[in-house]
Amino acid sequence: MLNIPPAPVIEGATHLHSGKVRDLYELTGGPHAGALLMVASDRISIFDFVLDSTIPDKGEILTRMSLWWFKQLADLVPGHVISTEVPDAVAGRAVICERLDMFPVECVVRGYLTGSGLLDYRASGEVCGIPLPAGLVDGSSLPAPIFTPATKAAVGEHDENVSFDAVAATVGADVAATLRDLTLEVYARAERIARERGILLADTKLEFGARADGTIVLGDEVLTPDSSRFWPLADWRPGEAQPSYDKQIVRNWALSAASGWDRASGEAPPPVPAEVVDRTRARYVEAYEMLTGETW
Ligand code: ATP
Ligand code: MG
Repeated sequence: MLNIPPAPVIEGATHLHSGKVRDLYELTGGPHAGALLMVASDRISIFDFVLDSTIPDKGEILTRMSLWWFKQLADLVPGHVISTEVPDAVAGRAVICERLDMFPVECVVRGYLTGSGLLDYRASGEVCGIPLPAGLVDGSSLPAPIFTPATKAAVGEHDENVSFDAVAATVGADVAATLRDLTLEVYARAERIARERGILLADTKLEFGARADGTIVLGDEVLTPDSSRFWPLADWRPGEAQPSYDKQIVRNWALSAASGWDRASGEAPPPVPAEVVDRTRARYVEAYEMLTGETW
């Protein structure tokens, strides 16, 4: 189902892995030999399809947004970024980061109920073993943010929500508690910052890893629309599906008659019209500008 294009060849780096949106390399020379080069492409995925069409500047916007967040969080947890002096071919859209021993846990935190959390709640009244009050609807604010970890699925498969105890069984009780506490702290800080700027941070997914000396470090990308749900605060209406900040334009187009796409066909959506691409790009720019207060 996933149609990820081949990763570009970068001089001085060996390709390791490609996800839906990012390409991961190891640097083979220079001052940071052995470190990772994480490159954010302009690819966009909807309904688990990587589209053939790209969103100009998306990789650079999300890279800068993630760097901005790492700075906002630096006193809570160390981040993995070493340098932004990356090879010219990926200037602006990549970071050099320390290689961590990643914990095999998607550290998800939810302040609002939607997505897989809502499905679990409807089925059992709980999310990841955490009981929630009755009567919550799509988009409801939770009494307090909850840590709802998931196991990392293989490429093309969905992550699976697991209980805290399952995480403890995998990484040990102490590490599990630390991951939970850090995740909740990061969310509390980020949710407040985003809210002050008109964005509701419904949930987010963090990934942590350990240095050789055991220090726990925040890795991956942080608090971008690709790893989080950003909702426009002004449009928040619990009880209906909230418009996603970034991908809604493309999703709406794909599902409309105009696209000619049949979701049930199992085929990838057709090329995205330029006008839809432009509006989507503008949304990413808008999110970046609202959050950081900088002009793109
Ligand atoms: P998806 O497209 O669903 O996100 P994916 O997670 O396989 O798929 P990426 O997110 O692009 O694809 O891959 C980045 C990979 O790098 C992830 O496996 C992540 O856990 C890993 N990673 C992130 N930061 C570090 C780090 N500092 N050290 C080692 N691995 C890292
Ligand atoms: Mg990933």
